[in-house]
Amino acid sequence: MKNNQTAWSPEESLKAHSYEFRKELIPILDHIFLASGFGASNSILIEGENASVLIDTLESLKGAEALKEAYAKVSSQPIKTIIYTHSHQDHVGGTSAFCGDGPVIISRRPFSDLLGPNAVSAILGKRAKRQFGMSLSSEERLNIGLGPGETDLRGMGEGFVPPTKQFSEEKLSLTVAGIHLELIAAPGETDDQLFVWLPDEKVLISGDNYYKSFPNLYAIRGTPYRDIAVWVESLNKMLDLEPQYLLPGHSRPIIGRDAIKEVLTNYRDAINFVLQETLKYMNQGLTPDELVQTVKLPPQLAEKPYLQEFYGTVEWSVRSIFTGYLGWFDGNPTNLSPLTQQHEAVKIAELAGGAEKLYHQAQNSLAQEDYQWCMQLADYLLALGEYVQAAKGMKIQACRALARRQISAAGRNYYFTCAQELESELGIE
Ligand SMILES: [Zn+2]
Repeated sequence: MKNNQTAWSPEESLKAHSYEFRKELIPILDHIFLASGFGASNSILIEGENASVLIDTLESLKGAEALKEAYAKVSSQPIKTIIYTHSHQDHVGGTSAFCGDGPVIISRRPFSDLLGPNAVSAILGKRAKRQFGMSLSSEERLNIGLGPGETDLRGMGEGFVPPTKQFSEEKLSLTVAGIHLELIAAPGETDDQLFVWLPDEKVLISGDNYYKSFPNLYAIRGTPYRDIAVWVESLNKMLDLEPQYLLPGHSRPIIGRDAIKEVLTNYRDAINFVLQETLKYMNQGLTPDELVQTVKLPPQLAEKPYLQEFYGTVEWSVRSIFTGYLGWFDGNPTNLSPLTQQHEAVKIAELAGGAEKLYHQAQNSLAQEDYQWCMQLADYLLALGEYVQAAKGMKIQACRALARRQISAAGRNYYFTCAQELESELGIE
């Protein structure tokens, strides 16, 4: 398996990862169902004596309506309680489809304000469209790293209904229709994250602090710092429970105490390794560009199928940790007040012997498959306002080539979408 996997191209590996999100209503015990592949995330239904509990509602009404039909085939109980594992739109955007019986909707407090209009909504929306490849063909958008490629995210968030009951304590215990539930604060991927623990069945519904990929410790759509030290603590809380069933917010369930223990332990160790190594080398004075060359997962963790970089990557995480702890300044006085891109471009062009030389060098880089350098040179040309059409054309080709080299769906989709945006600037459809 391992040998086959290492021989695969990133594109082939990512394509195979789509199988993780096949559409299926998976029975867990006789009264719990995990819905996989109905939307970007999972949803879980727990049947009680005369009512059901729903955990997360997918991202949009389209997915939620199909899910409602699927649930109706296995359960006729009214949904009287909905629990949000966290505030991300892919978990709360289908709620109104399930509100017929006036459910109580529970979340932690404070619940993120990312859902409503906020100071950076416009740019977050634009960058999320790139990260999730919302305008891409199915050949380009193989999947979204933690959900199926065919997910239509255009109605994301449309069916959101605000929580009616919130708790700010570490834990909320409740019994609903005979089901014992413990809702436990588990900040990590978001500050408002919780996991649901069913002590009688030893079922852990983890939200997004675990799914089958190296985690998105940083989201390239843009995100405030995700506190990784706290994320590690939340994984420890999950481990302490010794669950028999792990139902994640994305990807397939894991069944069996030993299997879960191994996965969660390695997942925690990988996250903690990246954090501790980054901090260690930051203290030695390494800059973000140097850190990403230095901090690598040890092979015994890097080879685990659930730590492949299908969504988050170690490199982005390392940069995020640096920024989270020290902010944007890398410590080098050269970078305290750098030249403008345009000013630097003028000087680089002078060094190169003129814009035409720069242009030829960019062409050579493209021909030699040195795509990153090609993009950097193309950006100088764009800053100069010279060879603009050609520079955009080269950047499109470089973006597409880099997209195919990404194992991260987020990275792949981002590059492909930027190529598409440049094409539309050039009037290419
Ligand atoms: Zn999610």
